[in-house]
Amino acid sequence: LIHLEGVTKVFLTDEVETHALSGIHMDIVKGEYVSIAGPSGCGKSTLLSILGLLDSPTEGSYILNGRPVQGLSLPERARIRNREIGFIFQSFNLIGDLTVYENVELPLTYRGMPAAERKTAAMEALEKVGMGHRAKHLPSQLSGGQQQRVAVARALAGKPAVLLADEPTGNLDSKNGDSVMQLLAELHKAGATIVMVTHDVRFARHADRTVHIFDGRVVQEQMESDPTRA
Ligand code: ATP
Ligand code: MG
Repeated sequence: LIHLEGVTKVFLTDEVETHALSGIHMDIVKGEYVSIAGPSGCGKSTLLSILGLLDSPTEGSYILNGRPVQGLSLPERARIRNREIGFIFQSFNLIGDLTVYENVELPLTYRGMPAAERKTAAMEALEKVGMGHRAKHLPSQLSGGQQQRVAVARALAGKPAVLLADEPTGNLDSKNGDSVMQLLAELHKAGATIVMVTHDVRFARHADRTVHIFDGRVVQEQMESDPTRA
């Protein structure tokens, strides 16, 4: 599903070069749950932005779903992003003056999905994360854990090929964090492909494997064995 080869990212700020990623190789197959770990500043978010077509590598190639995605125009990239990628951020990124339901529906509108289909898809996603009963609430009326569930529903509603999560529990207390992790584990069991950045190794055990990054390079890959998974 995802194939990265020699992916390098150099940021140039005020004539200072930052080598955020140096020659990353990575293959992720459909249905896999991969966690990405490593110290602050090692390049995890940069890698996720590249996987999510929010940013492009300075060098190297990225093949998503059998299609090379470098060199595509911005609108083409946006179209692929809308259809194939679901994002979950540390800070939820819900829109404060839209209801829960409207937040989940909005990306489907961008994709040009007809209203009736949008309604079904958005409500289905909200039910899946246990937030169907909160559809008419505003994000500010929910707990952090509930807001993150809504953000997961928003990411899921368009049935993306892959879910990308950057520190999805970073702003949650441990109880809410555990419950969001449990939710991701359930989605994975149901077939979702997930790439998750976390520096909390406790959570990596739900994943199939953990890729450890240090200084922009993959330094170790580790298979996870989770006895609670079939
Ligand atoms: P954290 O765990 O703290 O979130 P991270 O592993 O996600 O860290 P990145 O955000 O990927 O780290 O950053 C990797 C390096 O690239 C850092 O040195 C950072 O300062 C630099 N960097 C990231 N984005 C940019 C940018 N837009 N412009 C310049 N430098 C950047
Ligand atoms: Mg980061």
